[in-house]
Amino acid sequence: MYKRLTIKTLSQAQKAWPDALQAKCSHDPYRMTWQQMTGIGEKLTGRGTPSKVLFVKVGKGVSTVISSRQAQIDFERQITSTKAKNSGLTPYINKEYYCETCGSRSGECHPDTGMCFICDADDWRPVNE
Ligand SMILES: [Zn+2]
Repeated sequence: MYKRLTIKTLSQAQKAWPDALQAKCSHDPYRMTWQQMTGIGEKLTGRGTPSKVLFVKVGKGVSTVISSRQAQIDFERQITSTKAKNSGLTPYINKEYYCETCGSRSGECHPDTGMCFICDADDWRPVNE
């Protein structure tokens, strides 16, 4: 099962997903964006298929990203099984929170448990943070 962990180092990531890789990019000061590093991370381990980005740090001159193809596979499996589990249910909507695990901004959660209706995580963040 995919579980978003508070991963900050490559060894933490590899404990959960042994295929995890890290890229460190040197660049001109303040020339790297979070989106660019995420894009690099998505291509890091997949060989043409996307990887799940587990950690991004944008620094002044050096930026780091960690990602794993296996984490992406686990994540996709979790979304598929959540969809099957929730079929026939009507989600409860709370648009004040978004799901940090899957990025869902629809505010859809399970009517009884309050877990994300898309990925089954309990990883809500306030939209206006
Ligand atoms: Zn979610």
